[in-house]
Amino acid sequence: MTIFSRIIAGEIPCYKVAENDKFFAFLDINPVNWGHTLVVPKKEEDYIFDIADEDLAEMMVFAKKVAKGIKKALPCRKVGVTVLGLEVPHAHIHLVPLQKEGDMDFKSKIDNPDAEKMKEIAEAIASNIE
Ligand code: AMP
Repeated sequence: MTIFSRIIAGEIPCYKVAENDKFFAFLDINPVNWGHTLVVPKKEEDYIFDIADEDLAEMMVFAKKVAKGIKKALPCRKVGVTVLGLEVPHAHIHLVPLQKEGDMDFKSKIDNPDAEKMKEIAEAIASNIE
């Protein structure tokens, strides 16, 4: 069981943003920018491009809804999308609110993000998802 499956199962706490029957979204615990969100499939798959076509399409549509919520909740010009996925063997899409391209620099993470602020951001995004 991956760490993300344990989060989905409620065994490990997270700052949850959204979920449906197939996908789950929560804040990245080491955000590159405030509002950095991960979208993951509930069904474990390591590599995103091993996900079946229809499920991958649905995952992107779910990510789009989450991204719209991020854009409404936080000041940003666009929401950046990337897949890195070498650390956790459970496919995930990173969504990061951007004011400038440098806001998505994975080498510079927010140091020890404040738990209360993370909670508020997750709630703000969640309440702006249609
Ligand atoms: P990567 O596989 O390289 O995309 O990295 C995995 C991402 O998951 C990193 O950005 C981590 O900060 C994030 N991550 C790892 N564990 C957790 C967790 N328990 N809660 C939220 N995000 C996590």
